[in-house]
Amino acid sequence: MTGVKHQKWWGWGVEGISFTHEDKPKLAPFVMEKIGIDLDAPGTPPPAFEDLKVPASQLPDDLAAKLRDALGEQYVDTSDLDRVVHTYGKGLVDLVRIRAGDLPRVPDVVVYPADEDQVRLVVDAVVAADGVLIPFGGGSNISGSLTPPPAEQRVVVSLDLGRLNRVLEVDEAAGLARIQAGALGPDLEDQLNARGWTMGHQPDSFKHSTLGGWIATRSSGMQSDKYGDIADITRGMRVVLPGKVIVLRPLPSTSSGPSVREMILGSEGRLGVITEAWVNVHRLPEHRDIVAYLFPTWAAAVAAMHEISESDVSPTVTRVSDANETAFSLSMQKPSKGLAAKAGPILFNVLERRGWDLSAACLSYIGYEGSDAHLKHEKGVVGKIVKKHGGIKLGKGPGALYDQKKFDTPYIRDFLLDIGALGDVSETAAPWSKLMNLYANTIRAANDAYAEIGVTGFAMCHLSHSYHSGACLYFTFAFPPSTDVPAEQIEQYWVVKKAIQQSFIDNDATISHHHGVGTDHAHWLEDDISPAGTDVMAGLLKAVDPGRNLNPGTLL
Ligand code: FAD
Repeated sequence: MTGVKHQKWWGWGVEGISFTHEDKPKLAPFVMEKIGIDLDAPGTPPPAFEDLKVPASQLPDDLAAKLRDALGEQYVDTSDLDRVVHTYGKGLVDLVRIRAGDLPRVPDVVVYPADEDQVRLVVDAVVAADGVLIPFGGGSNISGSLTPPPAEQRVVVSLDLGRLNRVLEVDEAAGLARIQAGALGPDLEDQLNARGWTMGHQPDSFKHSTLGGWIATRSSGMQSDKYGDIADITRGMRVVLPGKVIVLRPLPSTSSGPSVREMILGSEGRLGVITEAWVNVHRLPEHRDIVAYLFPTWAAAVAAMHEISESDVSPTVTRVSDANETAFSLSMQKPSKGLAAKAGPILFNVLERRGWDLSAACLSYIGYEGSDAHLKHEKGVVGKIVKKHGGIKLGKGPGALYDQKKFDTPYIRDFLLDIGALGDVSETAAPWSKLMNLYANTIRAANDAYAEIGVTGFAMCHLSHSYHSGACLYFTFAFPPSTDVPAEQIEQYWVVKKAIQQSFIDNDATISHHHGVGTDHAHWLEDDISPAGTDVMAGLLKAVDPGRNLNPGTLL
């Protein structure tokens, strides 16, 4: 036993937690109407682990001996379960493949170093043996950045950072913390909170992703409007390369040439192993509120988010769902009791009498943090902007509900797979001037793709992560494939996913705002950063890793 926590080998999160629709009476009719699937039909659960055919480990004896000498017997694991856990991330294709027992290439061994010295020993031993080394954080990526290339002949070593999970020091005067790269979100926040600090980085995958993984994929959390993306939060780092260590001190800013810090951000394991980072931390806020608002249309809602981003207030979260996502969120609600049960229908009645088309309404969540006076000021400014764009305040109740449920929603994909539907996401960012076209064209592209493969699909979107010049649009799509054959399901999935990703490029948006490149988005990298840009990146990767030993196949 290594003491390191892992997710389910076949799906999201931990055993014992799963999605249920039984307490959400409006969901089944909604899903039936939108994609023709009966949520109460008997599902097909994932297979038993014993039924998988796991290829045998090909770890050579001499490398095994070196690794055991360096780390200790217990921390060099060749068990089938551990190797399978480290084979895939949590993208839709990963989930379909693992359920189908599709395991063409599994890491030969998983190693659990205790500190940076041990990481160095592992990196050097694997490169000396001309093996492949894949750093593993929480395994939560959805870009296909962990899986060994299927035809890889060399020994494959998964390096799990899970034992490097401590907050090492807090520089209170600077508001910086030095944290080991394998710390999961809750681990590092618990340690920081106990000292009165927070990093404020909260991706939806917070419970199952690590600091190193966030840095390696250029992650963004839901509170990025206040705390910044991980690229802003990360100030210094230590990164183990074959034979050497990059040491970047935490600096508020620097003009020392092209940024090596930025080269490591988003490097997806291709430039070595991040062992620790200095990150910006903030005093725990006095108060924290999420308030819900409703807008009459998507155009009004997006205009309001833009105006908030230009105003002199800076909420932690600015998020708004399109009409489809709003309808989905409402269908996910548990029945309310007493006054609350009456309040919704009364409000909707009033809005209809005022001329709202409720099928176009868009639900928004705005987050606030700070002192009473600060919150009062921010809510006042936002309230005026919402009103100007025809919106209304729903209040803190629905906002709190969103805040509590946000980490449970990801379990829905496994539930959908059980009953034969595929669901996944694609997200992007673009300038404010391009967002409305990007949105309309991408929804159209998804619907055209559904028509092409002859399925009834659903696509929805929200705007989140606002910046000076633009914002992130996050699309979720779901459909029942017209086949039970996993490989054909994946083909149909790619028709939809590719249509959406291509729409991003065609509409001046990026291939990913915060999920990274991996193998899933690599096809569009050249379109994203230009052929000359990929040349520069290829040169960098080759200079650091001429033998393609470090997570080859992902990124470029
Ligand atoms: P892993 O999946 O283990 O690894 C990802 C990549 O980073 C791999 O290439 C790996 O080799 C490399 N890597 C990991 N650790 C290191 C290290 N120490 N040194 C060098 N390379 C390393 N992302 C967001 O940004 N925001 C979200 O809100 C968000 N929500 C999500 C919700 C769901 C349901 C899912 C499934 C994913 C979500 N993601 C989100 C994507 C994912 O959680 C992020 O990409 C996350 O940053 C991955 O971290 P990880 O520790 O799980 O990394």
